[in-house]
Amino acid sequence: MHFEFATATRIVFGEGTVKELASAAKSFGERALVVLGKSDLRIAESIEQLKKEGLTLSLFHISGEPTVETVRSGLEQARIQHCDLVIGMGGGSVIDTGKAIAGLMSNPGEIYDYLEVVGKGKPLTNPSAPYIAIPTTAGTGSEVTRNAVITVTDQRVKVSLRNPSMLPRVAIVDPELTYSLPPEITASTGLDALTQLIEPFLSNAANPMTDAICREGLLRAARSLRRAYENGDDPHARQDMALASLFGGMALANAKLGAVHGFAGPIGGMFPAPHGAVCARLLPVVVEMNLNAIRDRAAQRPDLERFTEMSRLLTSDPDSRAEDGIRWLHELCAALNVPPLATYGVTKSDLPEIIAQAKKASSMKGNPIELMDGELNRIMELAL
Ligand code: NAD
Repeated sequence: MHFEFATATRIVFGEGTVKELASAAKSFGERALVVLGKSDLRIAESIEQLKKEGLTLSLFHISGEPTVETVRSGLEQARIQHCDLVIGMGGGSVIDTGKAIAGLMSNPGEIYDYLEVVGKGKPLTNPSAPYIAIPTTAGTGSEVTRNAVITVTDQRVKVSLRNPSMLPRVAIVDPELTYSLPPEITASTGLDALTQLIEPFLSNAANPMTDAICREGLLRAARSLRRAYENGDDPHARQDMALASLFGGMALANAKLGAVHGFAGPIGGMFPAPHGAVCARLLPVVVEMNLNAIRDRAAQRPDLERFTEMSRLLTSDPDSRAEDGIRWLHELCAALNVPPLATYGVTKSDLPEIIAQAKKASSMKGNPIELMDGELNRIMELAL
């Protein structure tokens, strides 16, 4: 057995912990670039506290998922303002934007020098500038991952900027910040968290640490996602989902993902579809295809048992079989009104390009079994 495990330097979890932002920030610098989403209502109090601690702030607002252009303009702002630290408070889009800016701020050159797949993919020469990440969705776990997902608009792809030093110095996970999420976003982001617990658990790079984290996260997401969707003010459900998201990020950063994310990257680059909703639509179909493929071609493999264990964690039924877990996932997606991919404009004629791109995606390499072209095509047909 051989594995590594890396996460944010410090994780602060709990209701009200956002109040710790100012004191944490003070220890890293004096001039902070603060990356925020469309509305900064939720951060008003934190901004005041940061100012009281004597920090000079430069606010950078984004909307939508980050593009190369978004990162470039935030980087320019940070350089002009001589910022020495970055704070990101928002959904995964904000967290990734701040993470990319912090990574590039301390390095020469520009984003394409370092971007994977479409750029030169060079490693960052200098460690990232200090970064504090505060998620306001319970989905991506990006506060504890070492990559930022960036859309390259002209090439219609989403690729990562990745480096171990991009792991945030501090992740402040305050479930109260997620109370304001509307049901639709609770569903799509929560299903992303669930996917990021299931794929690493079933992946070919799972290790005992990610397994332990996934088991705990799966239990919490299974019991609380529907509750958080139905009642956004349920503190126990929100707390469970914030933990599930955090654990999903830890798991994906230290084991691999699988075909759901293999497909979600190209689809997210080609269509204006929320990442979590795409993952959710694909999840039950991919799990079922993987189960059948392993049974057909590798029935002796011990990891078949993992599908059964996943089902037991999801259904809380110790007698549950793998098929019961897949049915549970289908029912959850129906209850949370997960739309078909056609809603976002994906058509049958797009499948060859999506499949060709998905086969090249790094996430696909973590899938528990190599899927054949016919199987990949069938997954997409079922998700349309
Ligand atoms: P998001 O950040 O795009 O946010 C979705 C919507 O929710 C936005 O309109 C946002 O303004 C709103 N929102 C955020 N917090 C809110 C709150 N508390 N109350 C009300 N509205 C709120 O969505 P996301 O799913 O969190 O992030 C998606 C991005 O993260 C994608 O680009 C995806 O590729 C990326 N991602 C990154 C990683 C990683 O490890 N780096 C992992 C998974 C996904």
